[in-house]
Amino acid sequence: MELIAFCGVHFMAETASVLCPEKTVLLADLAAGCSLAETITAGELRAWKAEHPGAIVVMSVNTSAEVKAETDYCCTSSNAVQVVEHVWRERGEDTEILFGPDMWLGAYVERKTGRSLHVWSGECHVHAGIRPEDIERIRAEHPGAEFLVHPECGCTTSVMEFVASGDVQAAHCHMLSTGGMLNYARQSDAQEFIVATETGMLYPLQAQNPGKRFIPVNRMAICKYMKMITLPKLRHSLINPRV
Ligand code: SF4
Repeated sequence: MELIAFCGVHFMAETASVLCPEKTVLLADLAAGCSLAETITAGELRAWKAEHPGAIVVMSVNTSAEVKAETDYCCTSSNAVQVVEHVWRERGEDTEILFGPDMWLGAYVERKTGRSLHVWSGECHVHAGIRPEDIERIRAEHPGAEFLVHPECGCTTSVMEFVASGDVQAAHCHMLSTGGMLNYARQSDAQEFIVATETGMLYPLQAQNPGKRFIPVNRMAICKYMKMITLPKLRHSLINPRV
């Protein structure tokens, strides 16, 4: 059996099934959802589209398969600006865009492109506790630290927007994928890093760089859904696959 076993949450497993229909995708806990993905249903998106006939829909990967089926372009936080610019280039500069479900990512794209979108008002529960003043305070406490932001999940899109708006200093700020963050930490001469992402990322960073210090921008940036996927559950789903 060709198999993908998921440590990620529901929308990631659904996305893997859509991209790799010939493979079996196992999700270790079916209740592992995503508060951002749950802010919009396919019915709500259809109603939104009906209010804007002819508009193009750009949704981030944090959506259900049903919402993706109603979507013209699927993006990540990392490529959202390029996808929106592509739409205007290919479909015409006057094209209306419905963007969602993350309002922080929508604001970031608007700021970067200097243009308006119709933005869904969804957000992830995790980033609610990450405020610009908290970021600046922890950066002031660690003046030599590099600031690493992981832009792939809804939990840090607010930080991207704070940096883009100037509410948080851009100096020594690096927006990096998971692999990019690990590479950067390994190669950097810096000894301290402030990390803006779900706190689980601190474990591989610390394990690969025992002499360096990694400080979460907010210790409460914990995704309760990701934490539902445990090693025993993963093991159980591999031994007893229910498809
Ligand atoms: S951190 Fe937020 S956006 Fe990412 S999976 Fe969890 S609830 Fe969803």
